[in-house]
Order: sequence, then structure tokens, then C-alpha cells
Amino acid sequence: MSLPHRVADLGPAARGVFTTAHGGVSDPPWAAAVPAPSDDADRGGLNLGTHVGDRPGAVAENRLRLASRVGSPIGWMTQVHGNGVRVVDAATIDEAGDSLGEYDAVVVTRDDDRPVSAAVMVADCVPVLLADASGAAAAAVHVGRGGLMADVLGETLAVLAGLGVPPERLVAHVGPSICPSCYEVPPAMQADVVAAHPAAEGTTAAGTPALDLASGVGARLQAAGVARVRREAACTYERTDLFSYRRATHEGDGRTGRFAGVVTIGGTFGAS
Ligand SMILES: [Zn+2]
Repeated sequence: MSLPHRVADLGPAARGVFTTAHGGVSDPPWAAAVPAPSDDADRGGLNLGTHVGDRPGAVAENRLRLASRVGSPIGWMTQVHGNGVRVVDAATIDEAGDSLGEYDAVVVTRDDDRPVSAAVMVADCVPVLLADASGAAAAAVHVGRGGLMADVLGETLAVLAGLGVPPERLVAHVGPSICPSCYEVPPAMQADVVAAHPAAEGTTAAGTPALDLASGVGARLQAAGVARVRREAACTYERTDLFSYRRATHEGDGRTGRFAGVVTIGGTFGAS
């Protein structure tokens, strides 16, 4: 099955992917405006969001395709731009891909018998995948402006540390999000965020105030002592193979899909 994706580099004991808009069964506007060029069989959209007006059956099929691709059930959350963190093991995660509840981070713990995955959905916000170098735990974190300000990253790192995984043992991969050139915000909003996260200061292509959320995320992770932080350069607004809420708003009524970052640990993979 064709499921276009970017590979996230999360060290030797975890696997990670960032999906695209391609490879599923959703119709426009929950599919890319330009179909995937290579594969006639998979022209539909891989919308993974249940909250964006797409057919529930289509989203369920898309989530099953992704679970099949990563080889395990996936822990999904209902994201609310807050700082709630849910810790789950493989036994807790629903094969059907139902939501674990209202959170902005899912931490999964290793099960030697079966792999387990956590997912974050985005369409401009920053998807962050974290993995312990030894594969004991991993996390998927949703970081928009609200989550950055609510310090969902700090909350997630604290939960991981409580599970015996300090930041020094973590690697992070920051997935595609909207770049500062495309993310204009009111001056007061920029000032608010930059006061707390100086690295998040940005400027649009037109020279107006903007936010650089991915840089803010990277700086937050590095300040916390995360061992290694990798970043995707792709901008959701500019890439037609990714979903962008802001692009959908500028070009239409804001309806669009969500793509995902997924981290997988456990089972026989990464066993020492
Ligand atoms: Zn951009």
C-alpha cells in the first residue's frame, strides 16, 4: 500500500513517520488539491482528523491504513491547545483508533510483547516526536501557539522524567509546520509569545510580525537538555502535499485535513 511519508530520525530504539495529505480515502477538501503524481490507486486524502467535517468512515479507514503501515495500534488524542499529558501502554490503546481523550501529549511506554505508537495531528501547528534512546518510552506532542505558551513540552518532559527518562536520554524530531514567512500574527500576539520564547520571533515575507513556532519549540527542547533535536524544513502552507489550516482559510472556508507524526516503540524492535 502506498503511504507517502517522511521518516523521522528518533535513534536506534524507535521509529517515526510524518504522513502527508496522500494515501488515504478522503475526498477534497480533506485531500491534497494536487493528487499524488505516482500512484493512481491512492488518489484520496489521508485525513486523520475526526473533528474537521470529513466522513467518519473515511477517517477510520485512513487511521487503519496508518496503523497497518506502522505495525501497531496508535494512541490518538483529542487536541485542545493545552498542556495535558496522557501516559498509556499497549494494552490501553484501542485497535479502532478512538481518542484517548482531551490531551496535547501522549506518552507510550514499552511493551516487550507488542509495539505501540502515539500520534499527533497537525495542519500548521508543530508536531513533535520524542523517543528515549533505549526505547523505554516515547511521546507525540501537539505544539501550537497555545501549547508552546502553556509549556506542553515542559509538562511532557516532566512526565517522561518521572518515568525514568530524563531529557538527556531523549532525541526529538520536529515535523513540518507553518514557517514564519507564512505565519503573520498581530504585533501584540507576537510580543506576548516572544517575551516567553525569544526564538519564536519571526518576520513574514512582507516584513510584518510573525511567529516561528518551530524555532521556539527547538529552543525549548534544547534549553531543557534534550540530547538531540532534528527539524523538518518543509512549510505546511507552502507544500501542497501537506494540510494547512491557514492556507485552507485563505483559499476557502478553512476546511482541510490533518496529517500526523507517529512514533513507535516496543515489540521486537529495538530490543536490547
Ligand atoms: Zn511558509
